[in-house]
Amino acid sequence: MQFIDLKTQQQTIRKKIAARLDQVLDHGQYIMGPEISELEKQLAAFVGCDHAIAVSSGTDALLLALMCYDIGPGDAIITTPFTFISTVEVICLLGATPVFVDIDPETYNIDSSAIEDTINDCKNESYNLRGIIPVDLFGLPADYDLINSIARVHNLFVIEDAAQSFGAIYHDRRAGSLADIACTSFFPAKPLGGYGDGGMCFTNNDAHAEKIRSLMLHGQGGHRYEHKHIGINGRLDTIQAAILLEKFEIFQEELNERQIVAEHYTRNFKKHVSIVTPRIPFDCQSSWAQYAIQVENAAQRAHVQACLKQKDIPTAIYYPIPIHQQPAFKNITNKRYPISESVSQRIMSVPMHPYLTVEQLSNITTSFLKALGTFEE
Ligand SMILES: *Cc1c(COP(=O)(O)O)cnc(C)c1O
Repeated sequence: MQFIDLKTQQQTIRKKIAARLDQVLDHGQYIMGPEISELEKQLAAFVGCDHAIAVSSGTDALLLALMCYDIGPGDAIITTPFTFISTVEVICLLGATPVFVDIDPETYNIDSSAIEDTINDCKNESYNLRGIIPVDLFGLPADYDLINSIARVHNLFVIEDAAQSFGAIYHDRRAGSLADIACTSFFPAKPLGGYGDGGMCFTNNDAHAEKIRSLMLHGQGGHRYEHKHIGINGRLDTIQAAILLEKFEIFQEELNERQIVAEHYTRNFKKHVSIVTPRIPFDCQSSWAQYAIQVENAAQRAHVQACLKQKDIPTAIYYPIPIHQQPAFKNITNKRYPISESVSQRIMSVPMHPYLTVEQLSNITTSFLKALGTFEE
């Protein structure tokens, strides 16, 4: 069994992808070809944003969003310690300081009720707090109504890390439209994944869109060899855009299938008090990049993973080490974030993709619950 089955998906659309690739080979515009703006238009309309800028990866999308605000040394950004490394990496790469706020133990997203206290603590620090990067972890949007209103009061910007949540819904809006700038990723394993690296920035702000587009093209100004900003080479390849256009055709169907898989898991797991399944807040829909559950402790998790492995059922741990405990970030803070630390010891993810069969699903849940039952302290 595959943890994320990209092969079955490919079988269903391989001919169409091949035809798209043929078109690129025919026109030969490998850099900034017509597929780029076609993809940007389609995804901007889907997300409900005025501007979409295709970029080289989700990490570069986050980097460009921070560069758009001229983030640098002396600045600080609030974010979560329970995320993929990119979210924090880009803050540090620009010489700014990440300030962590612990997570909600049931949604795994930044605890929005704790942000205001952290903002007030920051007033005694020498750095200049500039913005907040909430992460829509495992596909579930963070609590943007509260986060955006806190940000407005304190004159902070909000960048949505929607790398895992493309397709998700928060009230009546799509992930990717929930903050000043949003960033998503087309890494192959994400809900909308290409066959290589890719990402996108979304915004309704015309000036931000123009600046990100320039920064992504080496800070390009009025013409190709005039540079008004110090930028990066942050373009998406035309070939990736061509592939993503075909993948996007079946994306809504795939989201529906992911939802069915998630409902199966929740139905079967929630009766067991020892497991915490993700809590989906009212009027929200996850894009189910991952289905994550918490067991009692690390020993029980290791036992369950070993039992499932014997039955050829792959599992994964996102994330075994919170960011503030990563070797690369050990000098950033000596504060503790107890919920992130505890969750990282207990969390595990089960296979999640749109092509899981009913037999596979019942095999996973039955084997999982059996493994829980055979665990001895
Ligand atoms: C995958 C991911 C990224 C980075 O995306 P890439 O396209 O791999 O650079 C950023 N943030 C989060 C939360 C992610 O899961």
